[in-house]
Amino acid sequence: MNKKYVFANWKMYLDNDESLSLAAEFANEFKNLPENIKMAVFPSALSFLSVIKPLQDAQISVGAQNVHWVEKGGYTGEVSAHMYKSAGAEYVLVGHSERRHLFHETNHQVREKVEAILSVGLTPVVCVGETGKEREENKAEEVIEIQIKSAYHNIVWPEGRDIFVAYEPVWAVGTGTPCDPVEAERMHNLIKKQVVALTGITPVILYGGSVRPDNAQKYLNNPDINGVLVGGASANFQHWKEIVESIE
Ligand code: PEP
Repeated sequence: MNKKYVFANWKMYLDNDESLSLAAEFANEFKNLPENIKMAVFPSALSFLSVIKPLQDAQISVGAQNVHWVEKGGYTGEVSAHMYKSAGAEYVLVGHSERRHLFHETNHQVREKVEAILSVGLTPVVCVGETGKEREENKAEEVIEIQIKSAYHNIVWPEGRDIFVAYEPVWAVGTGTPCDPVEAERMHNLIKKQVVALTGITPVILYGGSVRPDNAQKYLNNPDINGVLVGGASANFQHWKEIVESIE
């Protein structure tokens, strides 16, 4: 059976009460998902501990939106991979376009985070994507290749741990302008080839960027796209339900 991954990035959209009530709705609605659907929620750092129990009780995984690569220390405002592990996380988003472009996160820092996440037993979900300008200048492939290479070159990947990549073109994230599914498929195949060449492992590749109820089925029912990473629409129960229900 073709497994599909539906990952919900709640970004900084919900306060603690809103996170708790959306988690309760998710838990109630999705507690009996078929085995071929894997759901994960990435709440804010603030709400992580409030939502983890109801979600995990419903077999929904919980991940972190970001981590610091040092285990413990004087890093005001940061939360480490080790801390998330101790709190029950399974996944961590790394190099999300909002981290790279609003907070100037570099490929080098992404690599530091990937290594820290692996070392504590969590699974990184590495986000890659080109800006609109890079695409216009025909540099999309080159940019993605550099991001992939710096995340995975010479890495020792733990036995049995899946490699997750999210192709999230920067110009599509949060803009209402999704990437054409045929083009997303082309980029996914390019990413797959490169990750296999670097690691010998076939990655799970998600598409992210303005996935909505009215376009989700084009990504979720494409055999070359293993699932979706959704921001805005995942913070709305009805939209998320319709996205999940579009899996055939
Ligand atoms: C995201 O946050 O990863 C994302 C793809 O956002 P949106 O769905 O809002 O474009």
